[in-house]
Amino acid sequence: MKELIVITGASSGIGAAMAKAFSAKGHPLLLLARRLEPMLDLELENSLCISVDVTDGEAIKAAIATSVAKFGPVGGLINNAGVMLLGHTDTQDPAEWSRMININVMGVLNGIHAVLADMKARKTGTIINISSVAGRKSFPNHAAYCATKFAVHALTENIREEVATHDVRLVTIAPGAVETELLSHTSSDEIKAGYADWKEEMGGVIAPETIADAALFAYQQPQSVCVREIVLAATRQQ
Ligand code: NDP
Repeated sequence: MKELIVITGASSGIGAAMAKAFSAKGHPLLLLARRLEPMLDLELENSLCISVDVTDGEAIKAAIATSVAKFGPVGGLINNAGVMLLGHTDTQDPAEWSRMININVMGVLNGIHAVLADMKARKTGTIINISSVAGRKSFPNHAAYCATKFAVHALTENIREEVATHDVRLVTIAPGAVETELLSHTSSDEIKAGYADWKEEMGGVIAPETIADAALFAYQQPQSVCVREIVLAATRQQ
């Protein structure tokens, strides 16, 4: 059997597409998100689905221990869980900023903390963190979200340098706009409508499967090759 792949945020969108793509290549999977049903509905072979909130580092560790006992060591971790709560900085509820920082940044660090010591000891392993084009440039109403995604870029590259001599790879994937549930959690109807118009004006966005293909490409390189960063977006996106 191939190496175990752990995917956070596998209950919808990009995470679900990556689960299908890695499963199709024969990898056993540990799928994590708060909603269990949509992960079970994927009906993927050799997959363990556990309801976990990524802000709970101990829960991630416990879920990984269960999956390792069943499938062997973690070959790859994909930190994909995230939320995007857009808002005007003067009026947005600061609780939304805390939520994004906890899920998008602390959640990624919690995932890394759960696997890194073992990967270093075994001198192999790959961690793919899903950032965003909003982790490289700013967009209107994205201040706190951009801050979390710039942080994902920074911490990924920093840890890559930290563990490179242990043959552990860290990869940042930065998608442009993708058709998923992501926008639905923004509370302002005005901002949601503006974002929908922006997507239409650019003539459409990319599919979650395109991001899954990018993750597979990075993962499938020989362990001696680290694809450090992939940025991909609709051709017409600015
Ligand atoms: P979705 O909203 O469709 O998926 C987000 C996933 O994250 C869900 O599975 C959700 O599961 C999970 N999640 C959210 N909060 C938590 C939590 N506290 N604990 C565990 N899981 C959680 O959006 P996408 O698929 O688009 O998003 C995936 C990643 O891609 C995110 O990091 C996002 O920032 C990034 N991205 C998305 C882009 C887009 O345009 N769609 C563009 C660039 C980057 P559940 O609710 O069941 O917990």
